[in-house]
Order: sequence, then structure tokens, then C-alpha cells
Amino acid sequence: MNYSKQRELILDTLKRNAVHPTAEKLFEIIKNEQPDSNIGIATVYRNLNKMANSGTIKRISGLEDAEHFDHNTYTHYHFMCEKCHRVFDIDAKIAPDIIENTKNRTGFIINSYDIVLHGICNECQTMQH
Ligand SMILES: [Zn+2]
Ligand SMILES: [Zn+2]
Repeated sequence: MNYSKQRELILDTLKRNAVHPTAEKLFEIIKNEQPDSNIGIATVYRNLNKMANSGTIKRISGLEDAEHFDHNTYTHYHFMCEKCHRVFDIDAKIAPDIIENTKNRTGFIINSYDIVLHGICNECQTMQH
């Protein structure tokens, strides 16, 4: 499998699994879905980092030790489930002024932000009962 095919497969798998996987989780999914793709974990890491550096995807840091990756590059927040470790998108419309208000109150220049809410997702709540 050539380089651009590998990249395509990795990006496609990330898009179809919109729970913001880590490189390792994404590698697992690829292995399950395409057992003969011959993609190694190092290739997955390399491609994800390349795409994150070029802005094709987003790197979400500060969730856990491992970085998660996001194919959505528009403004949004995140919710991370403490049980299943999936990460869900939260529409930025929920709190549209948070960045503007912070700027106004503090005078800080805000270059980027990672807003993450932590808790238990719907599915895991159901499984608890
Ligand atoms: Zn969950
Ligand atoms: Zn996201």
C-alpha cells in the first residue's frame, strides 16, 4: 500500500469513527476493518502527526496521557466519558461567548483553547443500571 493510500485510509477511518480516538485505538480499528492493509502503528502515528501539523485534523491534548485526534477542525468543545474514554463533540453554540468574554475580562490574547467536560456518556449511564 503506497503512502497516499495509507494516509487516505487513516483519515477515512478517523472520520468514520468520530469519537476522537487515540493513535492506538485508531490502529486497532484499522486492523479490525482492514486486516490485510499492512499498516503499522508507527505509520498511523506518523500520518496523524503530519495531518495535525498541517491542520487537516486536530490534535486534542490534555485529555489523557495519549493524544486524541479529531477530524473536525471547526470550533467546538469536547466531552470525555470517564468510563469508555470516547470523546464527543459539543457544539460551540452552547457557550458562544466564552472566548470573547474571557478576552474582555482578562485582556489575555487567546491563541487556542481546549475545552473539555468530563463525565459519563449516555450509553455508559444506561449500562450502569
Ligand atoms: Zn461512555
Ligand atoms: Zn471534536
